[in-house]
Parts: sequence; C-alpha cells; structure tokens
Amino acid sequence: MTALKELTLLGTVPTVVASALVLTVPQGTASAAEAAGGWTRPLTAPYYISSSYGVQGDWAAGRHTGVDFAVASGARVRSVGSGTVVLARRSGAYGKAVTVRMRDGHYIVYGHLSKISVKPGRKVGAGTRLGSSGASGRASGPHLHFEVRKARGYGNDINPLRYLSRHGVHMK
Ligand SMILES: [Zn+2]
Repeated sequence: MTALKELTLLGTVPTVVASALVLTVPQGTASAAEAAGGWTRPLTAPYYISSSYGVQGDWAAGRHTGVDFAVASGARVRSVGSGTVVLARRSGAYGKAVTVRMRDGHYIVYGHLSKISVKPGRKVGAGTRLGSSGASGRASGPHLHFEVRKARGYGNDINPLRYLSRHGVHMK
C-alpha cells in the first residue's frame, strides 16, 4: 500500500482507531515503517554523490548546505516522506526548487530541477513525484541538490544523509 493511500485510509477512521492500528504492527518491520508514514529515497534512477554535505566552498553559507546526487536530467524526483509542499518555483541559485515541510517539522529542499510537478499546499507522501532532475540555477551539470533544514530559513541545514538514515533510508 502506498503511503498516500494509507494516509487516505487513516483519514477515514477516528484517530484513536488509527493509533491502535499502528500499535498492532510489529516494530522494526517494513510494515511498521509504512504505518509510521513511510520513507524512501528521493531518486529511483542511478546516481552518485558528487558533492558531500558540509564541504567548504563558494556557497553563501561558506559550506555546502546539502548533498548533491549526480543523476541524469529528467529523472523522477520524489518526496522522501510525508509532508506539505510550501514552495515550488524558481529560487535563485537553487534554480527550480521544491520545499516540503515534513510532518516532523523539518524542511527539505529539492534543487536544480528541470521541471516542477507540484504546487504549494499539496500534501505529499513517500514516493510522490515532485518534479524532474535537471541543472537549473547554479549548477555545472544535472544533479539533485537535497537539503534538510531544522527550520525554514537558509543556514538551518542539518546533515541530510544522517536525517535519512534516522528514518531507515541509507544512501551513499
Ligand atoms: Zn548542492
């Protein structure tokens, strides 16, 4: 069952019942992860990390605020979990970008897209397509800039791979 379908189903039953359903799923299984909202990788296409998080360089913050996944242009870019789209437009150096406010309060920025497939206000789940990879904005080649922030503004970034790992998604 997809996270979206699941959310829809959960939305049709009283909260108390929904919580009880979640509690009956054994912990540590794939089903438990799905019941918790579901998490997945932002890419299904082959990729490699072309720039790590936190390296020093010519960024406004003086360091790389996200991780870059080199990937062919036009690849599907997906939300890694459940949240709400709060930005979907051209955003300076980020190029065409989508920001999702996650249910846990973090913000995830997907940058340098060639195409945006969602609008602000859209509820997304793990695997929902946000757009297509590209090289818009300040990019020397097609890649996905994936950035996680603990608050909305620039400079509140945290290690994006550690964040994903905490949710059972391991990328290297
Ligand atoms: Zn980047």
